[in-house]
Amino acid sequence: MAEHAYDDLHRLLAGRLAVLTGAGVSTDSGIPDYRGPRPAGAPPTRMPMTYQEFVASPANQQRYWARAHVGWSRMGSAEPNAGHRALARLEAHGRIELLVTQNVDGLHERAGSQALVALHGRVAEVICLDCRSVTGRAAVQARMTAANPDWAARHANAVIRPDGDVELEATRGFVVPRCERCRGRLKPHVVFFGENVPKDRVLRAQQAVAAADALLVLGSSLTVMSGFRFVRQAAKAGKPVVVVNRGTTRGDELAAYKLEGGCSEFLTGLLEREPVPA
Ligand SMILES: [Zn+2]
Repeated sequence: MAEHAYDDLHRLLAGRLAVLTGAGVSTDSGIPDYRGPRPAGAPPTRMPMTYQEFVASPANQQRYWARAHVGWSRMGSAEPNAGHRALARLEAHGRIELLVTQNVDGLHERAGSQALVALHGRVAEVICLDCRSVTGRAAVQARMTAANPDWAARHANAVIRPDGDVELEATRGFVVPRCERCRGRLKPHVVFFGENVPKDRVLRAQQAVAAADALLVLGSSLTVMSGFRFVRQAAKAGKPVVVVNRGTTRGDELAAYKLEGGCSEFLTGLLEREPVPA
């Protein structure tokens, strides 16, 4: 990009930022973006299971957990990338009002971001649909491994997806873990399609957008309303919206600036142009 264009971009992003991140921020950590551009001829990816499907039958829960069990070990080995680290540094420079992420991988936290709302929750937590108690996923994973000792090894070559799910055919025979308190139904503590984002998270993000000077959207196609509403809010308030993404997004028409590109490169560049803090 020409230098003057960069200057325009950096002028828009000079103040306090509300930041919204999506799957594109985690692709450099090896977590694929199932809505992002696919190589020509690649098969269409399966849609994630909806909340309604999950609660509809024990067979669906078995299908979900069998896949998630295999996906977890690989999701767990993903590390924060240069983009995650740059955002944590920008926060340390006092540049970030709030980081709102649609990702459930926990990589922003691990990179050191603290002013953070995980809009869709985290795969590292599990909730009981019956008694609402929340437990750590690692413990549930250990119980699943004990109950299904050779499962992960048998499906080691399955393809991982951004929500920690994997492509897996036969899932019958997988022993599904139950809540240790009430024997109830366990569900990852993440917002599924067809489920609403908790109101307190939405409110906190809206307050941050209202307080910030600009909204920076990174690596999200803004397909779901849970993220797109903040773009609408910022645009309506006359605040600049900058979108960095590979491929078109639903927010492009509302953006003051749209940059086609990778998030890590962009964020590293943004950080390099920061004045050195005294
Ligand atoms: Zn329970």
